Amino acid sequence: MDTDVEGVEQAVSTGTLPAWSRVDELVTEAHERYLPRTSGAVADYIPVLAAADPDLFGVSVAEVDGRVHTAGHVDVEFSIQSISKAFVYALVCHELGHDIVRERVGVDNTGLPFNSVIAIELNDGHPMNPMVNAGALATTALVPGATPAEQWERIRTTLSAFAGRQLVLDGEVYQSETLTNQRNKAIARLLESYGRIDTDPLEVVDVYTRQCALRVDARDLAVMGATLADGGVNPVTGERVVDAHVCGDTLSVLAATGMYERSGEWLFEIGIPAKSGVAGGIVAVAPGKGAIGTFSPRLDRAGNSVRGQRATAYLSRTLGLNVFASDVHASGRAARSSERKDSAS
Ligand code: GLU
Repeated sequence: MDTDVEGVEQAVSTGTLPAWSRVDELVTEAHERYLPRTSGAVADYIPVLAAADPDLFGVSVAEVDGRVHTAGHVDVEFSIQSISKAFVYALVCHELGHDIVRERVGVDNTGLPFNSVIAIELNDGHPMNPMVNAGALATTALVPGATPAEQWERIRTTLSAFAGRQLVLDGEVYQSETLTNQRNKAIARLLESYGRIDTDPLEVVDVYTRQCALRVDARDLAVMGATLADGGVNPVTGERVVDAHVCGDTLSVLAATGMYERSGEWLFEIGIPAKSGVAGGIVAVAPGKGAIGTFSPRLDRAGNSVRGQRATAYLSRTLGLNVFASDVHASGRAARSSERKDSAS
């Protein structure tokens, strides 16, 4: 799409969260309100994930001023899985820029499941977007590094900078997925056949499998998301992780494609960009305000955490995060009513 805005400065809309104590109360309320929900099922297509404790539930909000609110199991680690796609995409956008990444990976929804092979065939080999496995593999292939080991280290250190602490690989999850990821290998080979992956496709799958097996907790997800809400600076550590324009590039893709084939419904109901993963994590980002990180392993049929979605919806509504919500501006209303009084007198 040619928007013809080259050189035009990007102004940003702003907003504020309620007072700290109110945010704290709402995070606790969101946790208490959805704790009794036990519907959904733990993912088992990666065998080791089936062993997760289904009752775990953590909720965290990180504000762009660096304050973090928590309730429940916010320190329990789990594998980041698909949520890594958002942050590796940000890394690649930062390194290669908007245009190259849009052309190589794409930004449009496929409307098909995250591991669809048909979607690749239907789009002449184009991966379509970085939040489905095809696009995520194409994105990982673009991470700077002379060897897969260098690429992996770059991913690990960048995602650690987003989280504000050293993230480590869950060896058990990595091994379990490596033994069962034939489909991702097939997707990578198919992309190679279409010229969409230039390096060894199986090495790309290996780096991708590692990135999915990084261990995070709900608090990490909130801080990682808040870095995307804060123009690319981690609000807790103060470290710049990516350029500001990368945040917009990443969040717009999350809005369109972050919640699997439920992305439209998610935006309609909850109104903020988000990404979920099959281990039960969700990160949702309110630009300029902060982010929500949740963890609860029971998933719905689309692969999104049941409690996590509800807690995020509750917080989006009560904290005023929905980017599409508006109200009549008070000063405009006052001006119009005084105009009416003047014309009546
Ligand atoms: N590592 C998983 C896969 O590639 C991630 C899936 C997900 O979280 O959606 O199948």
